[in-house]
Amino acid sequence: MPPSMPTQSSEIPTQATDAAAPVAALRTIPRDAHCISRKDISPNALRVLYRLREAGFGAYLVGGAVRDLLVGGHPKDFDVATSATPEEVRQLFRNCRLIGRRFRLAHVVFGREIIEVATFRANVDDGSGDRELHEGGRLLRDNVFGSIEDDAVRRDFTANALYYAIEDFSVRDYTGGFEDVSNRVLRLIGDPEQRYREDPVRMLRAVRLAAKLGFHIETATAEPIAPLAGLLREAAPARLFEECLKLFLSGHAVESFLGLERHGLLATLLPETASALKSNRSGALRNMLVEGLRGTDARVAAGEPVSPAFLFALLLWPAYCRALMALQAQGMHAAEAQRRAADRVTLHQLSTIALPRRFSLPMQEIWLLQPRFAQRQGKRVLRLLSHPRFRAAFDFLLLRQSASPEHAEDVAFWREAQASAGDIVVDTDSDPGSAADGNEDAAPRRRRRRRRGGAAAGA
Ligand code: ATP
Ligand code: MG
Repeated sequence: MPPSMPTQSSEIPTQATDAAAPVAALRTIPRDAHCISRKDISPNALRVLYRLREAGFGAYLVGGAVRDLLVGGHPKDFDVATSATPEEVRQLFRNCRLIGRRFRLAHVVFGREIIEVATFRANVDDGSGDRELHEGGRLLRDNVFGSIEDDAVRRDFTANALYYAIEDFSVRDYTGGFEDVSNRVLRLIGDPEQRYREDPVRMLRAVRLAAKLGFHIETATAEPIAPLAGLLREAAPARLFEECLKLFLSGHAVESFLGLERHGLLATLLPETASALKSNRSGALRNMLVEGLRGTDARVAAGEPVSPAFLFALLLWPAYCRALMALQAQGMHAAEAQRRAADRVTLHQLSTIALPRRFSLPMQEIWLLQPRFAQRQGKRVLRLLSHPRFRAAFDFLLLRQSASPEHAEDVAFWREAQASAGDIVVDTDSDPGSAADGNEDAAPRRRRRRRRGGAAAGA
């Protein structure tokens, strides 16, 4: 069907303007030919779907949830697409609020679970001014209602454009996504270069989803990424921060990192780290980074908390080390050079990724505490142990140790110091800093206690 012809079920007439626009052709996969079962769908999402359906609207589960269910995964959220307008959705649900600019999205709230309900949208220009293109082809607003076919082809990957219909439990496929999911292939809908120009973040989504799902990025989808990687600099830094958290804190950080490297995205996303890794011939910095990401993935798998501050301390450590070395080579005093390097690296990175201060400050602390692990005398030990960032900084030291064994003694000492934290006897005689450092009194005081059983703790 030529793109200029109206689609069969368009409730709201739209006018296609783009000769390269993808064409939707429906294939229906009946209930007995796919594995999605209602018992795997959030009961609240089912409630929303049924209510919309009863009111006579088209109601579908869509996007990541359908894709994840088809590969046997557990979706973290369930999105609904419908022919009802946001205002019509609001009238159906008391627990509904409209969000977004010009009230284009409905959130139906069930305690802590939010079901996002979006009206079918189109990637076309209907002349209303609701869709704006930047001169580079970047999509600025995407607010035009449309048919389900329009809605399918404006999505990014075929795997993300599948619709589970509540009326007959079938899966509706307009872009070949069902077959792609079966073959574990990630394929952009439409002309890849054009779709990346519209929204460069799609390049990161390609890498992230391939890493998460273990999918192969189809050749025509993969090829333009490296040449277009620079477009990411135009993406909103706040959005890139969010995307980074998804890339690295969702349990597939190592695969995501390798994907970013492979597709030439690392140099745009983390430019100083990428160049520091390049000039680090031994590969020790890269090994440590990958090791750290492996640890992050293990924590996510074990359900343990992970922090953006620690993540960025890790991601930017190569950049920090390089900046520090350069400043020290200029003859700057160590402490001053550390502070300057931390500030410089943070500031540079902020132009790409909007790392909020509540994360960048603890990130810097993790770096700046590292040299203090080499100071093992007297009150300094207690001071460091009671530092609010001690735990994170020590975990970071462990990671450095895994990459280069020169920190073995420090690690052993601080392990022991933590184990006997309440029992440390402060030996002021052997503390070289105690006489000279007027701030020693500011150190938290601990009760002096005898060690259990009198055994030497090695502190
Ligand atoms: P995740 O598992 O990370 O939630 P997801 O595919 O559900 O993956 P979301 O950001 O939740 O990602 O987006 C929901 C859906 O919206 C996607 O499945 C896709 O259909 C569509 N979408 C999201 N981002 C884009 C984009 N940049 N361009 C086009 N469509 C998009
Ligand atoms: Mg999602």
